[in-house]
Amino acid sequence: MNNEEFRRQAHQFVDWMADYLATVEDYPVRAQVQPGDVRDQLPAAAPERGEAMDDIFRDFQEIILPGMTHWQSPHFFAYFPANGSYPSLLAEMLTATLGAQCMIWETSPAAAELEEQVMKWLGQLIGIPDSWSGVIQSTASDATLVALLTARERASDFQYNAQGGASQPRYRVYGSAELHSSIEKAVKIAGLGRENYVKIPVDEHFAMRPEALAVAIHDDRMNGYTPLAVVAALGTTSSTAVDPISLIADICTEEDLWLHIDAAYAGSALILPQYRDLIRGIEQADSFVFNPHKWLFTHFDCSAYFVRNHGHLIRTFEISPEYLKTQADAQVNNYRDWGVPLGRRFRALKLWFVLRSFGAEGLRQRLQHHIDLAQGLVREIDAHPDFERLAPAPFNLICFRYHPRGLDDPATLDALNARLLAELNASGQLYLTHTRLAGNYVMRLVIGQTEVQQRHVDAAWERIQKTAANLEQA
Ligand SMILES: *Cc1c(COP(=O)(O)O)cnc(C)c1O
Repeated sequence: MNNEEFRRQAHQFVDWMADYLATVEDYPVRAQVQPGDVRDQLPAAAPERGEAMDDIFRDFQEIILPGMTHWQSPHFFAYFPANGSYPSLLAEMLTATLGAQCMIWETSPAAAELEEQVMKWLGQLIGIPDSWSGVIQSTASDATLVALLTARERASDFQYNAQGGASQPRYRVYGSAELHSSIEKAVKIAGLGRENYVKIPVDEHFAMRPEALAVAIHDDRMNGYTPLAVVAALGTTSSTAVDPISLIADICTEEDLWLHIDAAYAGSALILPQYRDLIRGIEQADSFVFNPHKWLFTHFDCSAYFVRNHGHLIRTFEISPEYLKTQADAQVNNYRDWGVPLGRRFRALKLWFVLRSFGAEGLRQRLQHHIDLAQGLVREIDAHPDFERLAPAPFNLICFRYHPRGLDDPATLDALNARLLAELNASGQLYLTHTRLAGNYVMRLVIGQTEVQQRHVDAAWERIQKTAANLEQA
């Protein structure tokens, strides 16, 4: 393909992209294919001769698109969203066009300096202390791994890195029983031993019990373990429960433990003043992560990781082979030393586009709109005699189930709701997922897709009620 042909194709692609996004709500939200359907349509080997872009694009539309779940559909209420937005998409086009590999300052000074600055902006918007530093990681899972590795190195005076773990104490990491699986994964692969991940019980609202944390730390010390770190959730994945961060921070300060805050989803809400109180105690924490790629309209991947002391972070990760040394090293941020990968995409650009194009006010309005839509549905569900909520809804995730009057057997209710969810998702008209809370099967409905409006929520709620009513007759 030459430049002229690229220009012609790209114009057509942009038209297709705008059409797709204008009509994305008409596609079945969850892909309706069976395992193997897509693979069976693909040749067994790569083509020997180059093919025409028109043919490739036709196959994209005919083979690939039906096998995609449409995450940008406003009928998408599943998991947590992975939102895009127009400004973010435009920036992604430029990032791909530049094709820069931004591993160190010299390989693209603007990428390093823009990242430093937009992470400052973002930190200010959500209430991260001014003295902290920010860096973009790929995912919250990466950020949490980075946090635990840094905690490990700080506690061992960087000897774990130097000598391996054999001569180190048996460290312990604590988090509530509702924490995301990425925490346990990080403990496991940080070499701390999965058995040393201590799950602390939660209260009736699925938030960590700080007094149980204090007891667990005390007991571990008595038994010869070395408490290392606590991970607190600001918005759990199952139900967006918020751990009592300031109480946990006090315990961590007193016990000299690393405190990492996992706000992967709900961290975005901190740009709204009414949620600021949730991170009281942040000055005593050591690290904080949230994902603009979930609920801040910035395409995946873009995870915002903030640390109180970037010196510990860099000392944990830095490695300086001769071929990567430059004259600027003393004056600039080389983000290769701020995490695991060497190579880095230019991700700050899309965040910059989003922050400028929406403005702080525009972001607040959009998030508030999502929260208002969710709270409206909460009222409808609470008023319905045959539905019930099974957790508080402090943001825009609703955990609920169908519970027809007179039907109280837990196993029957679980099976009924699993059937309801399967039917809803098979309709292609909306997409929800589930979890378990206190042992019960619960449907999760998140109202946070960038373009979601009242009519999408109304359509979802109507279909849920109708499908449930029909189930009962079956
Ligand atoms: C989504 C989520 C994660 C994992 O996020 P990734 O960026 O996909 O790694 C971690 N913690 C919580 C609370 C989440 O909701």
